[in-house]
Amino acid sequence: MKKKQFKAESKKLLDLMIHSIYTNKEIFLRELISNASDAIDKLYYCSLTDRKIKLKKEDFKIKIESDKENRTITVIDNGIGMDEEELEKNLGTIAQSGTELFRLENEKKKDIDVIGQFGVGFYSAFMVAKEIEVVSKKYGADQAHLWKSNGTDGYIIEDTSYDCFGTKITLYLKDDTEDENYSDYLDSYKLETIIKKYSDYITYPITMMKTSSKLKKGSKDEYEDVTEEETLNSMIPIWKKNKKDVKEEDYNSFYTDTYHDYENPARIITSSVEGRCSYKSLMFIPSHAPYDYYTKEYEKGLALYSNGVLIMEKCDKLLPDYFSFVKGLVDSEDISLNISRETLQEDYQIVLIAKSIESKIKKELETMLKEEREKYDEFFKNFGMQLKFGIYNDFGMHKDELKDLIMFYSSTEEKLVTLKEYVSRLKENQDKIFYACGESIAKINTLPQVESIKDKGYEILYLTEYVDEFCLQVLSEYEGKKFVNIASEDVDVDTEEEKKELEEKNKNSAEMFKEMLAQLNQEVKEIRFTNKLKNHPVCLSTKGNVSVEMEKVINAMPTDEKVTSEKVLEINENHPISKKLEELYKKDKEALKTYTKILYAEARLIEGLPVDNQTEITNLICELIAK
Ligand code: ADP
Repeated sequence: MKKKQFKAESKKLLDLMIHSIYTNKEIFLRELISNASDAIDKLYYCSLTDRKIKLKKEDFKIKIESDKENRTITVIDNGIGMDEEELEKNLGTIAQSGTELFRLENEKKKDIDVIGQFGVGFYSAFMVAKEIEVVSKKYGADQAHLWKSNGTDGYIIEDTSYDCFGTKITLYLKDDTEDENYSDYLDSYKLETIIKKYSDYITYPITMMKTSSKLKKGSKDEYEDVTEEETLNSMIPIWKKNKKDVKEEDYNSFYTDTYHDYENPARIITSSVEGRCSYKSLMFIPSHAPYDYYTKEYEKGLALYSNGVLIMEKCDKLLPDYFSFVKGLVDSEDISLNISRETLQEDYQIVLIAKSIESKIKKELETMLKEEREKYDEFFKNFGMQLKFGIYNDFGMHKDELKDLIMFYSSTEEKLVTLKEYVSRLKENQDKIFYACGESIAKINTLPQVESIKDKGYEILYLTEYVDEFCLQVLSEYEGKKFVNIASEDVDVDTEEEKKELEEKNKNSAEMFKEMLAQLNQEVKEIRFTNKLKNHPVCLSTKGNVSVEMEKVINAMPTDEKVTSEKVLEINENHPISKKLEELYKKDKEALKTYTKILYAEARLIEGLPVDNQTEITNLICELIAK
């Protein structure tokens, strides 16, 4: 016999369960039944490819027993079972769902009624049981094992005998208290109600022995008590049911149960397609991004069923990366049961289904955008980044498909707008879509260039996510209007007259700029006066394809690839500083050098770029102010 302690975080979760004041304790049964069904799925799936396993779908079931005398409830399955190591690993440490629970707890989302809406798994049984015994024998193994625990003092594992394979879980119910009548769960009617409520769609029979009064054989009026095994669940998976017969809340609870989410989905997508490849699908858009969504750990995919039988839990071929947030399943009679990960790649049916699924999701998103804008905004805050990546990735292969689904914050509307909306508001003769980049909306608002372009009545899209500018570069234009960074040379919002005047002025100061440039170690390609600034003295703009924002993003990546944008230092011709510079150029060349360095450092600071010679700059400033 082995005696073991629970891992620290398991202890925490167990403690939460044992002392749970959660009123909806009945969900423990749902959790045990789901585990049993998963275990059967696993064995059944093996039996499809392994000829040695001679089991048919009809051979599987989940049995529920209750014993009033001993106050026990037992859940028995003939699934894959667990060996000693698995018992220890699976029941001694908390599963992913438990981890998620803690994450929420840490985020102090206490208001969410977490336990109930979560799949907290096996440990939830400790809400009603003072002791749990798990007897399990792995399919094909000789030895069975017993795992036993009261949830507090660790657990024991020892060899035991069990003449079937699979798992048998016995709960010794807690004693009744003033507030809680645990004995209720021993009542077969109560159990039946709970099973129908939460586990009706489980595809294997959930059975219970039931005693009822029946007419005696051969008699017309004599009754006798007959005990029979009765199947309690309808076994029709929710996606196979007639849509009319399924309530939204049924879909919601299927979603929260299956995907261990504590919130209902933002959108439910059902479809039934008849054709070259017929299939039914049930998909969901979550109402928040899973905690690991933007990490490598996140696995996209839809569950794949062949006529109600689970073939693969996550078939990634069914979802393009840019829709990886979608959860759900596809069930098709046209998919062979023997399909494997290897043959999936080439499977023509899968390709067909994936195409059809993709356009379905796209249509749903378009509808949401059109009809439920607020919901779409919320959706976009969660998953918009993924769509923008979708445009950028694969060399822009999917850009046309996605361009109408993305949004950016607009300077005039002060909310997220689509590109179509922007274009519909273009000023007369405006042939560009202006955008500005920065860390936040507030920061972009303070950018020197923004002020004057706004003043001229143009709408600007604010790009705050690092993928944004790359995404617009891949798009390059929308409805024939080019995207132009307001910090680039291509802005061009001046009249011919204004342009000429400025050109003249710059020409006249060319010699001065040359001298100033010499102070800046080739970092700057050009210095010139600008009329695009209103109150600010200086700004940086760029030539070519690499903007300052892209320079920051690329250089922050952990690769050797480093880039520098071609910077132009622009000086506000209407600011007193421009006169001052001209004065110094004539009278005090030394001071001009100092001023140049300070102005460039200022421009870098405004752009959020580091100033490498900070000591020199601060000393120079001090010298000036001490004068
Ligand atoms: P989850 O179901 O979220 O993974 P649980 O705590 O409910 O978490 O279960 C942990 C693991 O224990 C499961 O992932 C599974 O591997 C194993 N397990 C639980 N119940 C059974 C069962 N009846 N048969 C086989 N394995 C089981």
